[in-house]
Amino acid sequence: MGLLEGRFVVITGAASPRGLGKATARLFAEHGATVAILDLDADAAAEAAEDLGEGHVGLACNVVDKPACEAAVRALLDRWERIDVLVNNAGITQPLKIMDIAPENYDAVLDVNLRGTLYMSQAVIPTMRQQKSGSIVNMSSVSAQRGGGIFGGPHYSAAKAGVLGLTKAMARELAPANVRVNAICPGFIATDITAGKLTPEMQQAVLDGIPMGRAGEAIDVAGCALFLASDISAYCTGTEVDVNGGSLIH
Ligand code: NAD
Repeated sequence: MGLLEGRFVVITGAASPRGLGKATARLFAEHGATVAILDLDADAAAEAAEDLGEGHVGLACNVVDKPACEAAVRALLDRWERIDVLVNNAGITQPLKIMDIAPENYDAVLDVNLRGTLYMSQAVIPTMRQQKSGSIVNMSSVSAQRGGGIFGGPHYSAAKAGVLGLTKAMARELAPANVRVNAICPGFIATDITAGKLTPEMQQAVLDGIPMGRAGEAIDVAGCALFLASDISAYCTGTEVDVNGGSLIH
């Protein structure tokens, strides 16, 4: 019996084939969930959903666009009549130094990572409140906790730290409705977000800072998301769970 048998799950930014969202979607489907993959491109989202097997859904949704988030959730409720889990995974990063962050860099990175997490959460919360159950999992980053040092610039650290604050405040407000909200802080995970963008020297420096001596795999993050999404974490809310190979131990 899977940990998410009969559960309906929405995962944003899950079309990227080697990404954390896709790995999470695959693991959730293996555990019995019906999954909706939301991403920028409709065809990519549909393809990724098809990859999971029958019954899963792929939809275009730019998480920065509030009406688009609401429309996607309405379309899913028409089919499913409930939403049990939301994974706010969509994110972008940019390797900029503090003085190089232009207004449009700030807007892009803050919008997708933080505003998108807010808008998608707002789209599902009324349903979760009504159900008196739900689990929201937000993708933050070790960059939020230790001030970058891998790839993303200060604006990325700020956006992901914002995600942590939002997670904790939502957890507090929604706890009486039995809606749990938690964050994952991945360390360095090999996906397309940094693929080909790190020099061998940067890569070595990152690995030197990881006590476990290896980059994380997408499945490492997916496993943590499964824990937080399912009832085995029933008394966890407002937590930030590290998946970083020991690169930040606090
Ligand atoms: P990825 O680039 O492989 O996937 C990100 C996905 O988000 C892509 O499919 C992209 O199309 C989608 N996306 C971008 N903007 C969007 C928008 N406005 N609306 C909807 N979808 C959008 O990245 P990944 O490594 O799988 O990262 C997933 C999450 O994990 C991100 O939030 C990232 O910041 C976070 N994270 C990643 C790492 C890492 O080392 N890979 C570490 C810490 C945190």
